[in-house]
Amino acid sequence: MNIHEYQAKELLRSYGVAVPAGNVAFSDSQAQAVAEQIGGQRWVVKAQIHAGGRGKAGGVKVADSIEEVGRITDEMIGMNLVTHQTGPQGRVVKRILVEEASDIQNELYLSFVIDRATQRVTIVASREGGTEIEEVASHSPEKIITETIDPALGLADFQCRKVAAALGMNDKTRMTQLVRIMKRLYRCFRDKDALQVEINPLAQVAGDKLICLDAKFNFDDNALYRHPDINELRDLEEEDPKEVEASGHDLNYIALDGDIGCIVNGAGLAMATMDAITLHDGKPANFLDVGGGASPEKVTNACRIVMEDPNVKALLINIFAGINRCDWIATGLIQAYTTLNIDLPMVVRLAGTNVEEGRKILEESKLPFLQADNLDDAAAKAVATVKGEQT
Ligand code: ADP
Ligand code: MG
Repeated sequence: MNIHEYQAKELLRSYGVAVPAGNVAFSDSQAQAVAEQIGGQRWVVKAQIHAGGRGKAGGVKVADSIEEVGRITDEMIGMNLVTHQTGPQGRVVKRILVEEASDIQNELYLSFVIDRATQRVTIVASREGGTEIEEVASHSPEKIITETIDPALGLADFQCRKVAAALGMNDKTRMTQLVRIMKRLYRCFRDKDALQVEINPLAQVAGDKLICLDAKFNFDDNALYRHPDINELRDLEEEDPKEVEASGHDLNYIALDGDIGCIVNGAGLAMATMDAITLHDGKPANFLDVGGGASPEKVTNACRIVMEDPNVKALLINIFAGINRCDWIATGLIQAYTTLNIDLPMVVRLAGTNVEEGRKILEESKLPFLQADNLDDAAAKAVATVKGEQT
């Protein structure tokens, strides 16, 4: 789960990490009130969407007067911001952050992320922070520093100093600040079960002060149950509405861009199904994982959510029942077919617990389910129906 920049900064502030004074606003008058409260002569107005790359796309603007704060906010709220991270459809801006403008001398990159290869939290840092970090990583990977943290020992001081020195922060003032920032970020990361925290830029400003000008968090969804404070920050408007609806029914939905809607159980089977469809020259439109113990109601909800995607031209139901039961899945499919008035081809591959009963239920229903013997057969049939429809 992601949170907004202003929420990330509040979290960092509560851990004693330096961030600019600022606050969220939903309207121009609110934004002006925030600017007045902060004081000073220059402010930055920043679009709050769950995507980076805003600076280059017009989502970060400097204002030199309270009036200008209002004017920029008025332009920004309601605009469709397209950045290299939003995809071509962009994101509508609904809230902005007004904060004090810093006088930047130098921009660094600092992040903590779980490295799946080593299975450890790793610091990733670079002297070349700012908006071009992706280019630095691809063109000059030697400019990226990494440091792996041992979970039993925690983040050691010498590791922080090593990273700080590699970032050119050798003098006492900046070294002390950076070590403190890293330690606090790591504590926050661990406390909140984050998957990533990214500060870009971590800026050096007047008086050799280090301050986080942009902050991004990603939290482990599976650990949210023990972080109600974080879960509360969830902005459902920033998420795919179908994914939100699916999670409300305890289903996992992933939107893709093809035309075969897939209902499966388990992430592994989802991957295998995608591979099989691709092998037969087809493209999945989405994936819906019904998980274990799928009741007929859950299957009906699954069909409804998958079919809400207008690109879907056929459904492929691929269930390998262990905890699930094929007869329940079959009953659910019939219920879905009749209650939802499905007029798309439905290819069904059932295997595992109660498979004979499941197949019999489908056959006896006399509804036009296309039964498949195995995964390969199912993918071939689904692709063939879609291609047949198009010609
Ligand atoms: P994004 O990563 O989405 O482009 P950032 O928050 O990193 O957005 O802002 C882009 C750039 O704008 C930063 O690299 C920094 O140079 C500048 N910037 C952001 N916030 C401030 C601020 N409070 N004061 C001065 N400059 C800022
Ligand atoms: Mg940034």
